[in-house]
Amino acid sequence: MPSALKQKLQHSQDPILEFGASTVFIGRNGGKFPYGNSVLVQGSEESIVIDPSKSFKSHIGELPEIDRIILSHCHQDHVAGVHLFPDATCHAHENEVYAIQSMDGICELHGVVADERTEFESNVLEHFSFSPRPDTIGYKDGDIFDLGGGVTIEVVFTPGHTHGHSCLLVRGEHRKDDLLFLADIELSGFGPYYGGVNSSLEQFDQSLDLVRSMDIPWFCTFHHLGVLDKEAFLKRSAQYQGMIGYRENKLRDYMSTPRTIDQAVEHRIIYRKTDVGPSNDRSEHWMLTQHVDRMLKAEQLKEVEPGLYQAC
Ligand SMILES: [Zn+2]
Repeated sequence: MPSALKQKLQHSQDPILEFGASTVFIGRNGGKFPYGNSVLVQGSEESIVIDPSKSFKSHIGELPEIDRIILSHCHQDHVAGVHLFPDATCHAHENEVYAIQSMDGICELHGVVADERTEFESNVLEHFSFSPRPDTIGYKDGDIFDLGGGVTIEVVFTPGHTHGHSCLLVRGEHRKDDLLFLADIELSGFGPYYGGVNSSLEQFDQSLDLVRSMDIPWFCTFHHLGVLDKEAFLKRSAQYQGMIGYRENKLRDYMSTPRTIDQAVEHRIIYRKTDVGPSNDRSEHWMLTQHVDRMLKAEQLKEVEPGLYQAC
């Protein structure tokens, strides 16, 4: 980081970490939702921000001119700082460009139902400063942004959390500083979230296999953990991916007597019993539906009557 920028940033209340060309801005409250960790990448020709978060605006005025914004995906907390850079070119995965282009798009990505639409719109405007960017350009797996001076950002398509979710691999002069931005492969104790309308358990599991096979020294999540070295990443990601099997074991136990998916939703397998409300019900339902499909194929469950499942 240029020393002038370093001096300006040193009074920041939230931690700022440097890895060669990458500067990680830990979000408010340690990057806990609705905040998140954002990454500034500086090459000799361009400066790019990945996932400008809600708390990123506290750094505006201290940053170099930003040429591009790259979005890992378009959930509301990841796009909350897009409005800060109206002159920067905006990029999102081609599957998900629509979600940053309009209010209709972000509502569609979030699976907003008709009677929740007014509340969602006012929330996303008031708390996430949503500012549609109809000029957003789509990227795809393997695309490389060249920032000059040997600094690049490569797209690693990792669908599952959403259908456009991508990790971003920052490479600079020294391999020891390479950093993979994991976005919402967040490695939390909750486990992988694939409860959205555009989420996929199968894809999330494959994406975890992919990132766990990558030989990178540093990994950065958007929430919670921030930056981990490879050893810590492998440990946390094994626990995180293990939650998929843990959920299936719970479901198998619950379905030792025949049950419907609706009964399992009410019982709660994935969320806690205290996580009530229609939005949690919908997520639990979609996540369990995907588990049931997978377990039917693996002959771990059988359908004893239409819509009624029992462990084999
Ligand atoms: Zn997300």
